[in-house]
Amino acid sequence: MSSNSKVPITVAYGDGIGPEIMEAVMHILMEAGAAIEPERIEVGEKIYLQGISTGIPPEAWESIKRTKVLLKAPITTPQGGGYKSLNVTIRKTLGLFANVRPATTYHPFIETKYPGMDVVIIRENEEDLYAGIEYQVSNQVWHAVKLISESGSERIIRYAFEYARQYNRKKVTCMTKDNILKMTDGEFHRVFDRIAKEYPDIEAEHWIIDIGTAKLADTPERFDVVVMPNLYGDVASDMTAQIAGSVGLGGSANIGLDYAMFEAIHGSAPRRAGQNLANPSGLLFGAIMMLVHIGQPEVAERIHNAWLRTIEEGIHTYDIYREGISKKKVGTKEFAQAVVSNLGKLPEKLPVKRYGKPRPLDKTKFQYQPKEHHFELIGVDIFIKDGSLSAQSIAERIMQLGFEDLKLVSIANRGMQLWPSTGAEHTATTDSWRCRFKTTQNYTTQMQILELQKQLVSAGFDIVGTANLYNVDGKRGYTLAQGE
Ligand code: NAD
Repeated sequence: MSSNSKVPITVAYGDGIGPEIMEAVMHILMEAGAAIEPERIEVGEKIYLQGISTGIPPEAWESIKRTKVLLKAPITTPQGGGYKSLNVTIRKTLGLFANVRPATTYHPFIETKYPGMDVVIIRENEEDLYAGIEYQVSNQVWHAVKLISESGSERIIRYAFEYARQYNRKKVTCMTKDNILKMTDGEFHRVFDRIAKEYPDIEAEHWIIDIGTAKLADTPERFDVVVMPNLYGDVASDMTAQIAGSVGLGGSANIGLDYAMFEAIHGSAPRRAGQNLANPSGLLFGAIMMLVHIGQPEVAERIHNAWLRTIEEGIHTYDIYREGISKKKVGTKEFAQAVVSNLGKLPEKLPVKRYGKPRPLDKTKFQYQPKEHHFELIGVDIFIKDGSLSAQSIAERIMQLGFEDLKLVSIANRGMQLWPSTGAEHTATTDSWRCRFKTTQNYTTQMQILELQKQLVSAGFDIVGTANLYNVDGKRGYTLAQGE
């Protein structure tokens, strides 16, 4: 094959066990005939310690932006403050909105409590509580913003259905907590129901995250593709990786519309570094997903089937080695060599892996059509910091102001309405209060809200934040306090 037809990819060898597992993976890729042209970059510990707080130097960015594909070994984030998570920086900078983590078991060749488990967790990667918007609002209280967008939800959910089609999966399960988070998770669920209708060939179901995760941990074989907002996906994908056998087996893809990053799910395991012990399989599965992504599914298949054959032969690294099941305990290099020797062979008992024809993401399907909604300003929540007062005394002081247009309707502490009384007097309170004002007319204005704030500040209230209350298309665009 001429070098022209080779696909340039960026490769980071990482820290700890990173370099040895990457060498093993590159050896397998090259022997399997992957048509790639690797460009090596330095990221991680060394770069952090040079004083680059993201761990990624400009020349590494230059390579990633040119090749658009990064295969990355795990890196070590040095102890101590000031270092930014390299993974979060890469995901956010490159718009890698989908984190794809397959978790499969290989019964009876690798010990597992879950024979028949073959699930793929697709986690939203950019939004939710990971938007990183947090505030301290009083001496005792902190807030975090759970940010869910319609465009972000559409993208990840559509990706999950497209993934299911591409990989011949039958069902997509969505998990949220929309019985409590009616607006944010509610939106994710609503978008799921809407997008699912466009994929009638794929079964769609929704579970509340608590019971859904419990079922996923108990009977993972009932699930196929599972799509979740960021935080739930983070927890559930580690859980499924762990119950699948070894963290050393899990690969992960971070996919965007223009860029993609492939890696192992595990870290740099510094205690195992330099001893030729680590299992290179997690990173190998990252590389296999990369091969499918760059349009080389036949090479991906060759490697995957050789790997399955090696596992069947009982050639196992220490983390999956079990007396009575395994035949030979090997190191990183020997394991890679065994996979290479099996290239061209198929597994005899485990299902043969087929990747089919690659279908690149149809970007046109991912174009978001913004919709205009009618917003009517009908009030404001004003958060005040005050440790000395009760809800009753706050209410009395506010009402003395006699502000006409906006009327105090509720005071809540930790989301529980305490004024007007709801009989929750025994609820523990903090020094952070939410005072809800609503217009006595049909709607109010930003100017009226500013005027109210001015009067509150003049009366000595310590305002730490505000949130406007809107009716959106005639429906309440905010939630009620408990008891309101
Ligand atoms: P870890 O995943 O590195 O190790 C956890 C345990 O799993 C260890 O006991 C290790 O022996 C075992 N293990 C991990 N990979 C293995 C493999 N390939 N083969 C056999 N056994 C394996 O998690 P940690 O110890 O919490 O983190 C170590 C470092 O890795 C930290 O600096 C952390 O920030 C970093 N980290 C990086 C990434 C990444 O780059 N994507 C992800 C997670 C953690």
